[in-house]
Amino acid sequence: MKESIYGLTQEALTDWIVETAGEKKYRAAQIWDWLYRQRVETFEEMTNLSKTLIDKLNEAFIINPLQQVVVQESADGTVKYLFRLPDKMMIETVLMRQSYGLSVCVTTQVGCNMGCTFCASGILKKERDVTAGEIVSQIMLVQKYFDQRGLDERVSHVVVMGIGEPFDNYENLIKFLNIINNDKGLAIGARHITVSTCGFNPQKIREFAQNGLQVNLAISLHAPNNDLRTSLMRINRSQPLEKLFAAIDDYTEMTNRRVTYEYIMLSGINDSPEIAQQLADLIKPRKHLAYVNLIPYNPVAEYIKYERSSKEAVLKFYDVLKKNGLNSVIRQEHGTDIDAACGQLRSKQIKQGVKHAR
Ligand code: SAH
Repeated sequence: MKESIYGLTQEALTDWIVETAGEKKYRAAQIWDWLYRQRVETFEEMTNLSKTLIDKLNEAFIINPLQQVVVQESADGTVKYLFRLPDKMMIETVLMRQSYGLSVCVTTQVGCNMGCTFCASGILKKERDVTAGEIVSQIMLVQKYFDQRGLDERVSHVVVMGIGEPFDNYENLIKFLNIINNDKGLAIGARHITVSTCGFNPQKIREFAQNGLQVNLAISLHAPNNDLRTSLMRINRSQPLEKLFAAIDDYTEMTNRRVTYEYIMLSGINDSPEIAQQLADLIKPRKHLAYVNLIPYNPVAEYIKYERSSKEAVLKFYDVLKKNGLNSVIRQEHGTDIDAACGQLRSKQIKQGVKHAR
C-alpha cells in the first residue's frame, strides 16, 4: 500500500526529493505549497512540476488516504465525520465551531486499549495506530469540506482528543504536530494545538516537554485520589497519581507552560464538594500553571452506571475550586445531538453494520 504524502514532514519530503527523486530541493517547497496552501487532490494539478516528477510522486505516494463514509451536522455547527482508512478500518473526526475559530478533534488510534470505564472509544479495542499521514488527512478533509463550500474559514485549532491515546502513538503524533504547525503549510499555531493524555506513559510527558513545539498539554484526570481514579481509569493501576504528577511537575519545570486538567463530572461518583476539595488540594501547589476544565459527561448507552452531574453539583464543585484560587472553567458542550462524544459515532456505525475490516 502506498503511503500518504501527508505523512512526510517538510524535511522528510525534501530528503525524498533530493535523494530518491534526484531533483532540486526547491521542488519540495513547491509540492508543500500545492499540498497545504492550494490543497490540490492530485499530483497532476501541480502544474509547475515536470511530468517525470509527477510520475515519480504517483509511484511513491497517494495524497489522501481517507474516504468519507458519514457526515453529521449538528444544530450548533458541530460536524462529525466518519472516515474509512485504506485497510477499511474506520475513524472519526469532529469539527467544532468555537468563538475563536474552527477547531478539529482528531483520532490517533483505531480503537483504544486504555480501558477508561466511561469512554465510548474503549468499547472497540485498538486495532492499530493511525499513521501521521492519516492524522494530517483528517485536518485536510475538514479544511477541504470548508474550501469546497466556498467558505473562507480556516481550521485554526486542533485538539488531539479523539479516539486513542496519543502518547501510545508518539512518533506519529510528533510528525503530525510538526506538519500541521509548519508555517509554510497549514500553519496551525502550536499554542492553538492541545494534546490530551490519560497518563499512559509519564516518561512521554517528559519527552513531550522537550520536543521543541509549544503545544499545550491536557491531562485526563477525572479523580483526585488513586482509589477513585483506578475505578474510572485502568491506567491508574500502573501509573498512579504520584507517578503522573512527578512527570507533570517535571514538564512544568522544563517548559513553564500551563497544564490543563480535564475532569468529567459524573453524578454521585466524582462530583461531591469533598472530592472538589481533594482536587483543589492536589492542584493548589501547582496552581500557577494549572487550569481545570470541568466537562459535562456525554452519556454513553453502554455505560448505564454513569450519568452527568446536575447543574447544581457542577456549580458547587466549581465554587470549591474557585475558593481555593484555582483557574477553572465549565466546558461548553458541542454536538451532543450527533453522537459527538469520543467514539460514539464510530461504535454505533460499526454495530449497525457499516463495513469495517474484521
Ligand atoms: N486518550 C486521551 C485522548 C482521548 S480522550 C485521553 O485520555 O486524554 C479525550 C477526553 O475526552 C478525555 O479527557 C476523556 O476522558 C474524555 N471523554 C471520554 N469519554 C467522554 C464522555 N463520554 N463524555 C465526556 N468526555 C469524555
